Amino acid sequence: LIVLAIWLASSLLLGIWFGNLVIWLLAAVTLYLANHMRQLYLLDQALQSGKPIQIYETRGLWPEIYARINGQRQKLRNRKKKYHRLLREVRQSTDALSDAGIILNSESEIQWFNPATKRLLGFDAKRDMNQRIDNLIRHPDFVRYLEDPSGDAVTIPSPINDTDQLSVQIIPYGKKQRMAIIRDITHQLQLERMRRDFVANASHELRSPLTVISGYLDGLEDEKELPSAWVAPMGEMQRQVERMTRILRDLIELTRMESAGREADREFVSVADLLGSIEQVFAARTEMTFDVSSEIGLLGSESELHSIFYNLISNAARFTPEDGEVAIAWAATPSGASFTVTDTGIGILEEQIPRITERFFRVDPGRSREMGGTGLGLAIVKHALQRHHGTLTIASQLGEGSKFSCEFPESRVVSRHDSAQAAV
Ligand code: ADP
Repeated sequence: LIVLAIWLASSLLLGIWFGNLVIWLLAAVTLYLANHMRQLYLLDQALQSGKPIQIYETRGLWPEIYARINGQRQKLRNRKKKYHRLLREVRQSTDALSDAGIILNSESEIQWFNPATKRLLGFDAKRDMNQRIDNLIRHPDFVRYLEDPSGDAVTIPSPINDTDQLSVQIIPYGKKQRMAIIRDITHQLQLERMRRDFVANASHELRSPLTVISGYLDGLEDEKELPSAWVAPMGEMQRQVERMTRILRDLIELTRMESAGREADREFVSVADLLGSIEQVFAARTEMTFDVSSEIGLLGSESELHSIFYNLISNAARFTPEDGEVAIAWAATPSGASFTVTDTGIGILEEQIPRITERFFRVDPGRSREMGGTGLGLAIVKHALQRHHGTLTIASQLGEGSKFSCEFPESRVVSRHDSAQAAV
């Protein structure tokens, strides 16, 4: 504004001095505008070239504008450099990953994948980019999981060789985009199988000598001429052999379930009959009440369902004093059916509840052993329930009692009427 004022004042003075004031003023304004036009032209040129703008003048608005533009351009350049560096690092780290990572769009078409994908799945960037992933991995479990990836990761055989096993996890993100993470779990599965086989073989191997020892002990117990000093040790030996037999039986049952695949059989099981037979075992326990009015049954494995019910009921009986109460109920629910065992026994500390389904975990190992526990009952219950797509919920308060609930889904629940019709 000062420059413009000086410019106009000088032209005014010159106009007054030489006459033709309007012409002098017009000339001054035209020159002033021409200078701005030149600056705009230079600015346009500089912006087009992308190079930093040379600043010759030191006063006025234009040098300030140029300096600001140069500053912003520098900032942008620095930011770009930073993003490039970040992108390079992300690319290098995804290249170094041993797991395959694949980005899918909302149509499940492949948008990007890392080099491990080529090694694990044989994908080729030129050939397979933008292809639907289920055209390349056609395993039914994968196709089902791709449609609804809300459950756990699925395990599928490798599409490029028969020996490798891959675990696939799909993670949704952004706007309907998904990332598939594929991991080679062949080695892990081999180790798991080795562990299972070892436990199963060891249990089977131990069972035969134990049967022989138990047989001799039974025979000796009936021996009339047994010295009296031997009676107590013999009884203890007998008890320990029985305990070992029970542990082996539970271990064999657990490993059998683990090796038998994920799903239990789907034979019709009358829960009322099953619970009726268990009720007879506990007939002497008057504090127990069985409410099995519901006629609905289950589609599952009879022996596994027996294990679930028996273990929960015998736990309640063992951890509840005779003057307490144990209520067993079987009933239909809106989402299927539920089996509950409620007791007024010793209860469990809240922080120990998540651990009691672990193998060999007991709140009080000495007490559990004394009462004939193996520490494997609830592990069997949990595993058998999973194989029936059921869930176990435990609510307990120390000194107050516990409630164990097994929820069975509708797909496993069947009425007697339905089962009779199915048989016809
Ligand atoms: P165990 O053979 O020792 O009963 P389980 O796996 O069946 O093995 O149970 C693990 C532990 O959970 C038990 O040792 C006990 O401490 C606790 N527990 C199970 N059921 C009950 C219950 N109804 N009341 C109190 N504690 C229980």
